[in-house]
Amino acid sequence: MRRKPRLYIADERAIKSGEATDVYFLRAKKILDNISASATRVVAEVHSYGFPNGYEWAVFTGLEEVVYLLEGLPVDLYAMPEGTVFRAMEPVARIEGAYGDFGVFEPAILGMLRHSTSVSTKAARVKLAANGKPVLFFGIRCIHPAISPMVDRAAYLGGCDAVSGVAGAVMLELEPTGTMPHALMLVLGDEKKAWKLFHEVMPENVPRIALVDTFYDERVEALEAAETLGKNLYGVRLDTPSSRRGNIRKIVQEVRWTLDIHGHRHVKIVVSGGLDEKNVMELVDLVDGFGVGTSIAFPPSIDLALDIVEKNGKPLSKRGKLPGGKQVYRCENLHDTVVPWGRVVERCGVCGGRVEPLLKQVLSRGEIVSDLPDAKEIRERVLGQLEKLVSADASRWGPVFIG
Ligand code: ZN
Repeated sequence: MRRKPRLYIADERAIKSGEATDVYFLRAKKILDNISASATRVVAEVHSYGFPNGYEWAVFTGLEEVVYLLEGLPVDLYAMPEGTVFRAMEPVARIEGAYGDFGVFEPAILGMLRHSTSVSTKAARVKLAANGKPVLFFGIRCIHPAISPMVDRAAYLGGCDAVSGVAGAVMLELEPTGTMPHALMLVLGDEKKAWKLFHEVMPENVPRIALVDTFYDERVEALEAAETLGKNLYGVRLDTPSSRRGNIRKIVQEVRWTLDIHGHRHVKIVVSGGLDEKNVMELVDLVDGFGVGTSIAFPPSIDLALDIVEKNGKPLSKRGKLPGGKQVYRCENLHDTVVPWGRVVERCGVCGGRVEPLLKQVLSRGEIVSDLPDAKEIRERVLGQLEKLVSADASRWGPVFIG
């Protein structure tokens, strides 16, 4: 018999019902149910015990999906606002309730937070490297389409200026942004014809950005594009694969020089193809915008763990973890103080400034008790913190723990 193809995706029912879990959580639940211990009250915290090499901070995102997951369950959820820059060892979320009511959701909670946070963190690093220049996320071709809107969202929240994914853009209430694929030039067999048609067919509000590395040298095609579309040409995009690239900086310099000496100073240069924060930094003085895909869509993992830290009101934890619930207080310079839950801190121990608690209640017995910000608002919060991280060099201030 022929095998019938299918999509290997967990649908909303499988996720919300707790079926998308690891079997050992079901086993634990069964054992606890057996001795009527499922009602044991616990506090569990989500935190990271260490970041990838060279990372001093990460950007917490994915919370809205966790709220969706836990809404209606008899649990309380506290969390840092989505888009908060956090450090290793700081709790980013806290769940209180009967273990039997939420234990099976551990893999889904962590999966949502880890994946989104990892993508947002990488996006933020690339955006910082771009020094204010636009970063467009072109990465949905690297991931399963079932989760492309989630990855688009995470990339946008982390600081990308736009996404090319249409389904993701619709959910984020953004205009999808992109230029043209090589396929257009290849199908038409003539790059000039492709650019002209693009100009004729596309609505006025779509910037005319010609892809200029299909048949000839980037410098040759860039000048051709400028001559073909004149003042209508907004920019050129170089998508040279790294295997052909040699020294991309030199190629960009040549393109810029050639456009300038022929009077096309207005033409912007966008570079895409295999970029990460390192090569963005190397090109940022020459390039006007970046298209980034794989490095953001497949980022190093920001590992987050969920650990029980209290049972029936008493501090408790496994070896190597700090027992007891914790709150994080932050001043406007992003200095953090971590204290036992319930202790109030008013002043920052580093600069003396006023501090605010970061973990705020989101769900009370499964009911949403705080507003969920939209994507634009979260992204603004991220960009505001990135600015402070750079200007105040707050990145070197790890959290201070006061037990
Ligand atoms: Zn401070």
